[in-house]
Amino acid sequence: MPRTPISAGNWKMNGSAAASAALSDGLQGIHEIPGVHVVLAPSYLQIAAVAQRFAGTGVGVAGQNIHFETSGAFTGEVSPTQLAEHAGWVILGHSERRQYFCEDDPTLNKKLAAAHAAGLRAILCIGESLDERENDRTKTVLTRQLHGALEGQEIPIDFVIAYEPVWAIGTGQAATPAEAEEACVFIRGQVAEIAGADRADGLRVLYGGSVNVENVADFIAQPDVDGALVGGASLKADAFLAITRAIAASANS
Ligand code: PEP
Repeated sequence: MPRTPISAGNWKMNGSAAASAALSDGLQGIHEIPGVHVVLAPSYLQIAAVAQRFAGTGVGVAGQNIHFETSGAFTGEVSPTQLAEHAGWVILGHSERRQYFCEDDPTLNKKLAAAHAAGLRAILCIGESLDERENDRTKTVLTRQLHGALEGQEIPIDFVIAYEPVWAIGTGQAATPAEAEEACVFIRGQVAEIAGADRADGLRVLYGGSVNVENVADFIAQPDVDGALVGGASLKADAFLAITRAIAASANS
C-alpha cells in the first residue's frame, strides 16, 4: 500500500514567540512540496500562533504531550480537548518525556486513548537506550513499548509510530539506515500481530534521531521508513525545508 511520508519537526522547548514566528516565516511554502505531509510541533505557548500561520495549508500542528483526562485539577497540564481546539496532532512517548517525566507504558496507553477520543492524530515514539541495544534487548523493548501503549486500543488509520533510538536523539550519532529499517520492519510486524496485516501495511513508521540534510535521503530510501521525526535540524528553516524536499523526492521517485 502506498504511504504518504511525513516530515515532522519537534521544536521541543525552544524559541521565543518571535523566534517561532521567524521560523514559521522561513517555512512558508513548505506545504507546496508535493507528496509529503508536514507536521510541526512547537511548544505549547506557540501552538495557537503557529496553527494560525499555517491555517488552510494542510500543514499539521502537534502538541508534544497531553494529559489523559479532558479536564480537572491537574495543575500545569494540557488536556487533549484543549489541544484539539488548536492542533490536529500530538507526539506521545518521546524518550525525553519517558526519561525526565517518568512516562511509562500504562500512562501512554491512557494518553493514546485520550488523544484518539479527542480526534487528535498521534505520533507514538518508541526506542531503546544504548544499554538496551548493546545488550541485545532492542526488540524486547520495542515489543514492550508497543504492546503497552496499544493494548486494548482501536488503532485509527492515521496513527503514526516514530522509531527513535534514545542514543541517536540529539547526539549527532544517527542509526544506520539498515538499523532503522530493521527496527521499522519489526515494528510493522508487531502492529500486524496486534491490529492485523491491513492496518500494519498502511501504518506510517518514521525514523528519528540526528536526522539532517545529509543523511535523510538514506533513511527515506528504506522501504519501511515512511518519513522522519526531526529535532535539532527542524529549528532551522532551510534545513527542515531541505529535509522535507528530500523526503518528498524519494516518495515521488
Ligand atoms: C527528537 O527530538 O525527536 C529528535 C529526533 O531529535 P534530533 O533530531 O535532534 O536527534
